[in-house]
Amino acid sequence: MAVNRRTSRDIRSESRLTVMRALLAAGESTRNRLAEDTGLSIGTVSTVVSDLLKHGIITETGQVGGSIGRPTTGLRPNADRGRVVGVYVDVEEAYLAAKVYDAELGELALAEATIDEGLDDADTVIHGIERVLGAALERARANRDDVLGVGILLPGGTRRPVKVPVAAPNAIWLHLDRLRDRLGLPVVVENPLKAKATAELWLGAGRRRTNIVTVTLGIGVGAGIVQDGVLTRGSSDSAGEWGHTLFTFDGRLCRCGRRGCVEAYLGADGIRQTLAEIAPGHPLAAEPGRRRFLEALAESPGREAADTVERTAHYLGAALTDLVALVNPEVITLSGWTARFLGERMLPIVRRRVAEESPGDAAADLAIEISSLSDPGMTGIAAVALERFMRDVGLVTTRMLPAI
Ligand SMILES: [Zn+2]
Repeated sequence: MAVNRRTSRDIRSESRLTVMRALLAAGESTRNRLAEDTGLSIGTVSTVVSDLLKHGIITETGQVGGSIGRPTTGLRPNADRGRVVGVYVDVEEAYLAAKVYDAELGELALAEATIDEGLDDADTVIHGIERVLGAALERARANRDDVLGVGILLPGGTRRPVKVPVAAPNAIWLHLDRLRDRLGLPVVVENPLKAKATAELWLGAGRRRTNIVTVTLGIGVGAGIVQDGVLTRGSSDSAGEWGHTLFTFDGRLCRCGRRGCVEAYLGADGIRQTLAEIAPGHPLAAEPGRRRFLEALAESPGREAADTVERTAHYLGAALTDLVALVNPEVITLSGWTARFLGERMLPIVRRRVAEESPGDAAADLAIEISSLSDPGMTGIAAVALERFMRDVGLVTTRMLPAI
């Protein structure tokens, strides 16, 4: 295991990403304004801007008049520097999607496919990715030569096959070289928790804050942790598995095999179990599909459904309090189906519990919000592909990125 020490190259690399993200947030800016927005010195900003200009990632827009003093040169991201593509693979639903973005992460085209035969082996997964990627590029009228990178969203760890959920990660992990050969494009793999945190850094809550936790509430639950503007990876890239921290000693069986994990209470199946405990035999509990169950729970006018949402909100508030105690973020964003369907209803209870139970001042300035991003997983993996391109041209160090 290499020593993961922060070097002066890492610091330069962080400055480049900071300036790039600030410019993306502003749309158009100047060196002076970027220095104000980022807190970096004007000297650092000027150096970073030259580096980004050299690689064509940003572009000058000519003279812009300042409110005071002489006119200065405007800067903006170079959207046409190339294209990045996000790919999502859902084995259980045999569903694939690819979304093409320009180099300032503007969406250009989406292609989706449901594979009737299922996605049971590596060949069908690889072939499916190839097809859906080709269709999305065609729809975006993008040339393959323009593709700066392809990012694949993959649940679980990012270095080796994981136990849950099995098929997709293993099919891609064990055959990554083959996938790269077949696509003939730079491929980067990232787990959804970290991709979503990257999306918030580029386009969401991270535009204004540097200590962020992005919580995903879906079939599985987990967190992306950004501290001082840098995504926390941990020694084996496994940081953020908050869903598998302990909620109740010897509690419900989790799909990871352990008892009492947060996910066993806040994952879609956990919420279904809460309903079954509150109202045994309730018809909603038999609703097929996790997404459909959560949607039906949100729509149900019944007392038992309301009690289930309320109890889930208490669980969420209690479990988030542990995160707040450990990480002390400025903002927690919630995304995923549960956040989308039930989030607004749960927020008052969640906020109150976290405020009351967090130690000391840990939650004094904390905001808890539903993510403002419409597709944080896909946007995030596209941002990771863009960061990977910046690494390939020497602008960003490996420390900032997934190992592969
Ligand atoms: Zn677990």
